[in-house]
Amino acid sequence: MFDPITLAVGAGIAGVGWAVGRFGRRTPAASARARCGCGHDLALHDPQAGECHAETNRKTGYGIREWVRCGCRRYTGPVPIEDFFSRPILPSDD
Ligand SMILES: [Zn+2]
Ligand SMILES: [Zn+2]
Repeated sequence: MFDPITLAVGAGIAGVGWAVGRFGRRTPAASARARCGCGHDLALHDPQAGECHAETNRKTGYGIREWVRCGCRRYTGPVPIEDFFSRPILPSDD
């Protein structure tokens, strides 16, 4: 169940998330592109759940490549003003 590759990939994702969270703050937030702390575009995040749908091609060793879903759970980057105003204020429950 907890094979070394799974553990390595999990640790890698955690490491990347830590690095992005630590060094991502240095970049100015008022950039043209709306990018999340995970490094992916706002468009790749679910508008409701906030999860990132991007996939990264990760090298697991010995030429083996694996598509790994981005571990981001919520968009944390700047939200464009146009997008902010275009979003529904009330949840559409009808
Ligand atoms: Zn993200
Ligand atoms: Zn992402």
